[in-house]
Amino acid sequence: MKLKSPKHVEPTDAKERRETNVLVCYPTETLPKVDLAAAFTRRNGAEFFNSIIVPARHAGCVDVPAGYFARILSTEGPQVGDLNIWNTHNIAERFYSGKTRALHGTHVSTGDTLWSNLPYMRPLANITCDTLDWYGFDVDGGSVHDVIGTRCDPYTGRLLSGENYHQCCHSNLTRAMADHFDMDLSEAEMHVHDVMNVFMLTGFTHDTHQYFMKASPVRPGDFIELEAQTDITLGLSACPGGDCGDEHSSDTASCFPLKIEIYAPKSLDGFMPSKINLYDRSHGK
Ligand SMILES: [Zn+2]
Repeated sequence: MKLKSPKHVEPTDAKERRETNVLVCYPTETLPKVDLAAAFTRRNGAEFFNSIIVPARHAGCVDVPAGYFARILSTEGPQVGDLNIWNTHNIAERFYSGKTRALHGTHVSTGDTLWSNLPYMRPLANITCDTLDWYGFDVDGGSVHDVIGTRCDPYTGRLLSGENYHQCCHSNLTRAMADHFDMDLSEAEMHVHDVMNVFMLTGFTHDTHQYFMKASPVRPGDFIELEAQTDITLGLSACPGGDCGDEHSSDTASCFPLKIEIYAPKSLDGFMPSKINLYDRSHGK
């Protein structure tokens, strides 16, 4: 946080320095356009393929083949989900929350792409539907589906409270990943990464610019839908914070299961799986 009482005196040209132009760091006009109309056509003919239920305070993993659609659904009550994404065939390639945020903003919705990490950096999935798109940004600066937060984890919990808590999203994802990819917990943990906070309502406070959360507006029946751009595995944790309107990293909040439904398009005509980034990796040497 910035000091309330700065230790250094403003320079005489402080006003001038503050009033330079605001530039978007990464204008997205030259990014590959998400063709939502074509995706809707593929989605309209798609058939139910399979589904998983993610129990409250636990996580689950499911494979989504390239071109298939995954719907993350609220089923029984307001619940936030922490989402990890891996390339099914190479788990070193995974969701890059930070660059997704730099490109698309703090909160994502329909038409945004969920990108993978360097050196792969390509679309893992595109968001094709979001029933909470009506929410926009509220007076507190809050919105849903952030790519700001990291995931609730037992290490931060331990630092802040001195307690060990094992149902944090980090641990839930670690257990689910170990089961799904048949690996030890210690190995799985290294592949758990910063998340997309599905359905979570967050922002930054106006005064101290600290990360805040409010009760999620999600209700049973709401969903966010992704179209896989390569073969991906989703890991989803039903956060112990429930709707995250009170606290997380404890057993006190009301928590509900989440569901992921997978749909297989009848035809993949016109669908092109994403390719890894074309940068030559010579790094100027
Ligand atoms: Zn969590």
